[in-house]
Amino acid sequence: MSYDLYFWRQASDLALPPAEICEAIASNNPPPGLLVIDVETALLRIEQAFPGSSRSSHQVVWQGNDPRAGSFVVGWSRVHIYCECHQLPAEAMNQLIDIGIAIDCKLYDPQTAIRFDGSTTPNDAPAYRPVSTPAEVEVGPDGWTRCPNCRRRFKVADENVYKDGRHTKCGQTLALIHRAY
Ligand SMILES: [Zn+2]
Repeated sequence: MSYDLYFWRQASDLALPPAEICEAIASNNPPPGLLVIDVETALLRIEQAFPGSSRSSHQVVWQGNDPRAGSFVVGWSRVHIYCECHQLPAEAMNQLIDIGIAIDCKLYDPQTAIRFDGSTTPNDAPAYRPVSTPAEVEVGPDGWTRCPNCRRRFKVADENVYKDGRHTKCGQTLALIHRAY
């Protein structure tokens, strides 16, 4: 089983639901209204962030040295980038998400059918976003959770990423729910 990530940028008046856009992209038939993106910059950043990745005319493949490091395949067109992640740790997946955001794309997660269009950039100061209603998130027994705004996974005990009730990467306020296991 892979975990897939899609990135694209669209005209503001495009009314198609993200799930339909994703399906059209996946079947090589992107709808009008998607904007041309800077694929080359994203691919270069991916190659820099993941040494040993190999690029052909239509995909970038990366395989970690350690089996626990996971692997991924990246494909693209002029209007989208697609990452098929296999057992990829959260940190590595976050790197891919940051690269997508860096070229002004929004992330669509087909597993949850959510397009993350909160205005997030990789190192937004928490003050960047207005105080919002805290989003409730469950914290797993390992102390990790996933931010519902930007979809990054993080450890709630890490003050670099979670402080004063906010996910510092995007500024989303969160109400943590610790389940008893
Ligand atoms: Zn976040």
